[in-house]
Amino acid sequence: MWYANILETIGNTPLVKLNSITKQVKGTILAKIETSNPGNSIKDRMAVKMITDAEDAGLLLPGGTIIEGTSGNTGMGLAIAAVIKGYKCIFTTTDKQSKEKIDALRAFGAEVIVCPTNVDPTDPRSYYSVSSRLQREIPNAWKANQYDNPSNALAHYEQTGPEIWAQTEGKITHLVVGVGTGGTISGTARYLREQNPAIKVWGIDTYGSVFKKYKETGEFDKNEIYPYITEGIGEDFLPQNVDFSLIDLFEKVSDKDAALMTREIARKEGIFAGNSAGAALAGLMQLKDSLTADDVVVVIFHDHGSRYMGKMYNEDWLRERGFLADEKLTAASILKK
Ligand code: PMP
Repeated sequence: MWYANILETIGNTPLVKLNSITKQVKGTILAKIETSNPGNSIKDRMAVKMITDAEDAGLLLPGGTIIEGTSGNTGMGLAIAAVIKGYKCIFTTTDKQSKEKIDALRAFGAEVIVCPTNVDPTDPRSYYSVSSRLQREIPNAWKANQYDNPSNALAHYEQTGPEIWAQTEGKITHLVVGVGTGGTISGTARYLREQNPAIKVWGIDTYGSVFKKYKETGEFDKNEIYPYITEGIGEDFLPQNVDFSLIDLFEKVSDKDAALMTREIARKEGIFAGNSAGAALAGLMQLKDSLTADDVVVVIFHDHGSRYMGKMYNEDWLRERGFLADEKLTAASILKK
């Protein structure tokens, strides 16, 4: 038995019970581990869905160029699909992203343009503006626009939601998801809520992002926007793929707590996950007192730890940011680690 090509291996990812970090937490905590997708992240699902929907709509023609502003994982999914389907890829990204992520995109033949992080999205240098300009200038170019493209959330409505429902045999009570474009949380939640409207949906946000305040007050507060380190989640604008009506609450997690929890997941659960998995699990731990013994919680682990080797998996990087106490290297401190 074999797959016709690598794209057919996307999805049907494992759901794994967490046992150590969550020992004191009431209920069953399950991680949906998306690292087994060919691009090592959940974003492969929506990348392929956006491309096939654009092909069906006649927006993406044979030999065309795919353009996107991407922090890496979406680009990875698009780049892999482009190899199989014969498209060119040009991505714009920010100088905040891991070098590993950018090099991985280039490995699949994509062109990557690195833009400054700390400029307004409307600034002509921003990665949003540069990708829009390239779309206008390059003939036969299609911009995926993951933030507002409904195919993004639809991929999770068609795949991620049904997989979780089947894997938990309909027992899921809570869905916990780091929110960036909103595609994962909105599509997955919409499917699960159609099966059981009582399922609670918790979005994980960052300090420096607008989601939580907007959910609670309806106000888009520019004062909420400032630079942060956590990758893949939080935004400084409101993507159309975030369906606030499906999200019960947002919980903010600090850069430090997200980074340290990412490491804990490897050390205590043996799962090599990315930064937003750490944020999502840290967020759940902040909310754990509202869980009961019968609850079945699914936390999405969006991507793989290998993309963060120079960051939260590097002790010097942690120390430079004050995330790791500069403990003396005594036998006791080494044994404690
Ligand atoms: N985690 C990581 C590592 C991501 O790349 C993304 C996508 N930006 C997310 C979480 C958030 O997923 P979504 O865009 O579907 O909200």
